[in-house]
This record gives sequence, C-alpha cells and structure tokens, in this order.
Amino acid sequence: MCELCHEEPCLSGCPNAPVDTSRRICAWCDEPIFDDLYFSIDGEPVCSDCVDDCRRYDTEREAM
Ligand SMILES: [Zn+2]
Ligand SMILES: [Zn+2]
Repeated sequence: MCELCHEEPCLSGCPNAPVDTSRRICAWCDEPIFDDLYFSIDGEPVCSDCVDDCRRYDTEREAM
C-alpha cells in the first residue's frame, strides 16, 4: 500500500502514482482514453464520447 495516499494502486494526483505517458487524456473531458477510439481535434486527442456528444448537438441544431 502506498504510504502517501494509502491506496493501491495510487490515487491520481499522488506523487507516487505511476505516470503512464502512453495513455492519452481527452482534451475535452480530461478522462483517460483507454482504447484506440479517439479523434485528433486541433492536434489534441478527444475521446469518442465527446465527439459523439458534439455530433449529436450538431444534428439537433440542424433539425431545428
Ligand atoms: Zn500513492
Ligand atoms: Zn472526452
């Protein structure tokens, strides 16, 4: 167990937490992207959930 956060594995934000640089973080919702389903928008990775929300919004707007 970690001496700092008393969690195993470490809580995010704990200085002892391992940094996985290969893991992408969504630029919109700051959630880690676990699979390869992401989109590159303005050079930043955006998860499929955020893109889906954006597309749904666009569709609703067009329907109005
Ligand atoms: Zn820790
Ligand atoms: Zn996202």
